[in-house]
Amino acid sequence: MWSTMQDFPLTITTIMRFGAGVFGEAEVSTWTGDGTRRRTYAEVGERAGRLAGALRGLGVDGDQRVATFMWNNAEHLEAYLAVPSMGAVLHTLNLRLFPDQLVYIANHAEDRVVILDGSLIPLLAPVLPQFKTVRHVVVVGEGDTAPLEGAGKELHDYEELLAAAPGTFEWPEIDERSAAAMCYTSGTTGNPKGVVYSHRSAYLHSMSTCTGNAIGLSESDVVLPVVPMFHANAWGLPYAAVMAGASVVMPDRFLQAEPLVRMIESERPTVAGAVPTIWSDVLRYTKEHGSDLSSLRLVPCGGSAVPEALMRGFDEVGVRIVQAWGMTETSPVASVAHAPAKAAGADVWRARASQGRVLAGLEMRIVGDGDVVLASDGEAVGEVEIRGPWITGAYHLDEDPGRFHDGWLRTGDVGTLSQDGFLVLTDRAKDVIKSGGEWISSVELENHLMAHPDVVEAAVVGVPDERWQERPLASVVIRAGADVTPEGLREFLAGRIAKWQLPERWAFIAEVPKTSVGKFDKKVLRRRYADGDLE
Ligand code: ADP
Repeated sequence: MWSTMQDFPLTITTIMRFGAGVFGEAEVSTWTGDGTRRRTYAEVGERAGRLAGALRGLGVDGDQRVATFMWNNAEHLEAYLAVPSMGAVLHTLNLRLFPDQLVYIANHAEDRVVILDGSLIPLLAPVLPQFKTVRHVVVVGEGDTAPLEGAGKELHDYEELLAAAPGTFEWPEIDERSAAAMCYTSGTTGNPKGVVYSHRSAYLHSMSTCTGNAIGLSESDVVLPVVPMFHANAWGLPYAAVMAGASVVMPDRFLQAEPLVRMIESERPTVAGAVPTIWSDVLRYTKEHGSDLSSLRLVPCGGSAVPEALMRGFDEVGVRIVQAWGMTETSPVASVAHAPAKAAGADVWRARASQGRVLAGLEMRIVGDGDVVLASDGEAVGEVEIRGPWITGAYHLDEDPGRFHDGWLRTGDVGTLSQDGFLVLTDRAKDVIKSGGEWISSVELENHLMAHPDVVEAAVVGVPDERWQERPLASVVIRAGADVTPEGLREFLAGRIAKWQLPERWAFIAEVPKTSVGKFDKKVLRRRYADGDLE
């Protein structure tokens, strides 16, 4: 028999109405460089209505795509709320992509409007003429719009549009399965692929984020999403914050350690999310300047493996980093590494250094050669597969069946899963180093290297080797003034990893190249090695 429950749709509109109503006094503060400009959720909700009205006025109807090319700020949050709630689809463009990738993505998504940060005009202007489907560009804030002219698009000022729009908007009824937002993966191989989130997936992901086994957001929190709103929707933090009634601090374009620390000291966020490379800069700065990060109760960190040394470093300044794992395809948060309440001693660190425990609602499994499902025993190593209500089942206009397996997403990540749901990644499938028939985990080597007091960053890639097929090459950034040799680093590693895994190839570099979302860019390192630019 059917239940007697109402079939009420799970939509972003509901999140917005709730946040702007029940928690109307919560605040969105956008950092301006030396202070903040503040808006309440009630104001943001009202402005989202005006934005929706204005976009309708520009002809945005049905499921048309409205792109953003924006830093994290209040206006970006307004677009996050308005665009899906009016039935259109929010497409967050990654402003660090190469121009040809941006053009590909905007055309593939068929973006109709771009909401553009005034400070980013110089970055977008050169490619705008190639955005074939874009009719309108809405400029937020100050900026010389001259470079945009001649691109054949209608230009508008955000505030003028809002001022001219009606004060209320008739939000339509929306099917919870319809598209709300889209993000492209950064396309490490081939073209980027579009992941389209539904209202339902965003709603359930937000609820999940608010649970205690994830981040446990509530109205007593102040959330600082350092992770860009174009990187897997800032890991879902904005929607989750509105749902929780938590205030938000937006860093805008001030993403270096020094302004971030000042922001933290003055705005006192309780939760702040960013990739490990940002946090290692913040930690170094904090230790040098004796800064105060004590407002932070939890720092969700992920996107790439979080070095244990980084977590221990933050423990020393009284801040808890919690590692999370996910992908653009998984909305993105799928597992979070809280140590079990009963864990003690080394077990605490085993749990914290893992990629975390799968969240309720999702299922994970490990699959070996020939698509055989392996035991979840913490031992069997294979590719991680995942399914659930906020995991994509396809790509936009690109079925790519090779990425799916009987209704599960093949993640391309390799690791183990324990019986109690903890995921331990050894590598991305494409980064695993195959040496003489055995696998070497680049992540493990990096983790150990970054525990060395004089190592700032370390990235390990497999390079061709006549005898062993592949061997690890360690590219290391050394603390200024430190005297470190390959022999010294080998000695340091010797007690920690098997002898045959010790790298014999070393490169001392000024900085590890990073991808558009701040991860170690291993393909650049491999290329540099092949070109003879490393060693
Ligand atoms: P991209 O594929 O462009 O890097 P994503 O941000 O979607 O874009 O990356 C997802 C991938 O990031 C995962 O498949 C995984 O390899 C890696 N990743 C995310 N979180 C972690 C983590 N905590 N530890 C190790 N790897 C991680």
